[in-house]
Amino acid sequence: MSVSTVAAAPPVCAPLPVLGRDVTVPLVTGGEVTYAALDYAASARALQRVWDDVAAYAPYYGSVHRGAGYLSQLSTDLFENARRTVAEFLDCREDDQVVFTRSTTDSLNLLAAALPADCRVFVFETEHHASLLPWRGAQVTYLDAPRSPREAVETLERALADRTVPIEGGHGPALVCVTGASNVTGELWPVRELTAAAHAHGARIVLDAAQLAPHHQVSVADLDVDWVAFSGHKLYAPFGSGVLAGRADWLRAAEPYLAGGGASRKVSRRQDGGVDVEWHDSAARHEAGSPNVIGAYALASACKALTEAGFDTLVAREQYLVRVVRDSLADVPEVRFLSLFGDEAPRVGVLSFVVEGWNSSHFAAALSAEYGIGVRDGLFCAHPLLRTLLGSDPQTQGECGSPEAAPGEKSLNAIRVSFGAGT
Ligand code: PLP
Repeated sequence: MSVSTVAAAPPVCAPLPVLGRDVTVPLVTGGEVTYAALDYAASARALQRVWDDVAAYAPYYGSVHRGAGYLSQLSTDLFENARRTVAEFLDCREDDQVVFTRSTTDSLNLLAAALPADCRVFVFETEHHASLLPWRGAQVTYLDAPRSPREAVETLERALADRTVPIEGGHGPALVCVTGASNVTGELWPVRELTAAAHAHGARIVLDAAQLAPHHQVSVADLDVDWVAFSGHKLYAPFGSGVLAGRADWLRAAEPYLAGGGASRKVSRRQDGGVDVEWHDSAARHEAGSPNVIGAYALASACKALTEAGFDTLVAREQYLVRVVRDSLADVPEVRFLSLFGDEAPRVGVLSFVVEGWNSSHFAAALSAEYGIGVRDGLFCAHPLLRTLLGSDPQTQGECGSPEAAPGEKSLNAIRVSFGAGT
């Protein structure tokens, strides 16, 4: 099928203007072009509305939870309002906590640090390293890559049923960590079914929504996940803010992620010369130090913008663009799209492929230098998944980036194209 046979493009996402949409870049071959940033899965440039909100607040910002002055009070209000906005955006349950972090990686490391004693963790080998690696203190069961959503659920059920250390309700605790949408294939994971399976076996579940939240409404209450983690910079806010939201009990029972001011309610010297600390029970327990108020404010602004615009137009546009790429390359025999669940599986606006006979790094570099198209190439911080998808050991010199290889060498890494509000 050729490009001309695909359906007409849905309207561009007018309600979501992005800064720098019409940035021009020089080409190696001469001249300039309007840059096409097709790497939203790495970072989505902040919406103009977010920059405007930050600029309007910039003259007024002050320290949070730390001052009696007007600016400090204002900033504290805005920070706590941002927390409420995020809770609404995620449709959290009444007693859930929203903890501001630096990123998804930070959020999942926070949860890893808050695991109860003897917690077992279950994670598919297909996860992004941010979901795969933080559980160092726990006993981790790595689950084999499933080839369908049903197999994912069955694999998890089997593992939970087979575990040697029993879990909650007379047993030890367990946590499942799963992605909502793959950062490599874009495929949607059966979060609702995996959650039901986890809960049926007395385990908790955390959803890595880094790639899901920018494309779909995530309802914590409806999905019934115990926690959700995502990053501001993939959700049209600037870098430096993220969220861990969900059940308060494990977070309250844990030692603070960082120890310091803001996390402590009362600190006193003991007679023996030591120090006693009472930590906060609220989200502040895990937010020691002066909080990133601008980051939280910008993140909340992005959440509001997405809610107001609705995801429908954005999703329709992304799906159209995914189809254009697939159909345009369908007749190129060297191109092989990567998927776990099949080419037609539902996905967000993210897809990866290899070009046989080409080194992906050189292919991606040529797209940038000759056409002004910015894509991602490499291993996408998901080595075990890439190994499964490529059917061979990927080159691993660069964890997330592009390994070096000679021109014309067989492709051992992949190219990813991803869409968002500016495409
Ligand atoms: N999880 C997934 C699925 C991702 O795609 C990413 C980043 O690409 C992360 C986690 C980590 O996000 P961050 O780098 O913002 O911590």
